[in-house]
Amino acid sequence: MATYETLDLKDKVVLITGASAGIGEACAHRMAEAGAKLILIARRVAKLEQIKEDIEKAYEGAKVHIIKFDVKDLDKIGELKAGLPEEFSKVHILVNNAGVALGTPPAHENPIEDVQTMLQTNVSSVMAFVSTFAPGMVERNAGHIVNISSIAGHEAYPGGSVYCATKHAIDAYTTAMRHDLVGTNIRVTAISPGAVRTEFTLVRFGQDAEREDTFYKGFTPLNARDIADNVMYCCTRPSHVQIGDIIIYATKQSSAKSIAKNE
Ligand code: NAP
Repeated sequence: MATYETLDLKDKVVLITGASAGIGEACAHRMAEAGAKLILIARRVAKLEQIKEDIEKAYEGAKVHIIKFDVKDLDKIGELKAGLPEEFSKVHILVNNAGVALGTPPAHENPIEDVQTMLQTNVSSVMAFVSTFAPGMVERNAGHIVNISSIAGHEAYPGGSVYCATKHAIDAYTTAMRHDLVGTNIRVTAISPGAVRTEFTLVRFGQDAEREDTFYKGFTPLNARDIADNVMYCCTRPSHVQIGDIIIYATKQSSAKSIAKNE
C-alpha cells in the first residue's frame, strides 16, 4: 500500500481553456497521462488538432474533445456547454488558463482595445466559465476549479498595470469563490507562476523575438511543464485537501522585476 493515497483522475472530465500552447498544452498532456478525459479549448484549431493527435498517440485510450473557441465570446459559453458530447458533459475539473498580457506601456498610455482584451480574456471569461460549469459541480457536489493566476496577482509592477489588475481580480475572485463554495466538496485553487517561458512573452512583446530572447537571457526560467506539475499536484491531492494558491518562481527570480542574471 502507498504511504500516501492521492486522487485518481482516471475518466474525470477536465476542461482546459487556452490549451493550444504553453501551460494549457502541458496540463493536457499530464491530465491525459493520468487517464482524464479532455476538453481542450483555444482559437488556433490546427494546434489543438495536433495536440489531440500527439496525446492520442502517446497515451493509450486517451479521449480528447477539441473546441475552437474565443473565450472572449462570453455569450456563447452556454452554447459551448450545451454542445458537449454526453461523455464529456460532466466537467469535474475546470482549468481556467487562457490569458494574455499585451505590451508594457505605462498605465496612462494603455490602448483601450488592449485593456478590453486583457480584461475579457483574463477576468470576464474566467467568471463566465465558472458561472457556466460550476452549477453542475454544485449539483453533483464534486469538482475542482483551478485558476491560472500569476505573481502579478500578488504584486504590481511598472509596465504591468492592466495585466496586474486582471490577476489581482482573479486572486480576489478565487478567494471569494472558495468562501462561496466552502460547504461543498468543490475545491478552488489558484496557481501563481513567475517567469515561464512559453509564447506568453512573445505575445506580450508583439512577436518581437529578439526582445523576448533578451528577457530570458542569463537565467533559467520556469517552463510550462513546471506549472502543469503544480496543477497536477493540486488536482491529485486527496479529496479532503484543498490547495489555495501555489506561488512558484524560477530559482533566480524573487519578484516580477527581481531576476538575477549572470551576464
Ligand atoms: P501562451 O503560451 O501564450 O498560451 C496562452 C494560451 O491561451 C494559448 O493556448 C492561447 O490559444 C490561449 N488564448 C489566449 N487568448 C485566448 C482567447 N481569446 N480565447 C481562447 N484561448 C485564448 O501563455 P502561457 O504562459 O501558457 O499562459 C497561460 C496562463 O498562464 C495565462 O493565464 C497567463 O496569464 C498565465 N501566466 C503565464 C506566465 C508566463 O510567464 N508565461 C506567468 C504567470 C502566469 P490561442 O491563441 O490558440 O487562442
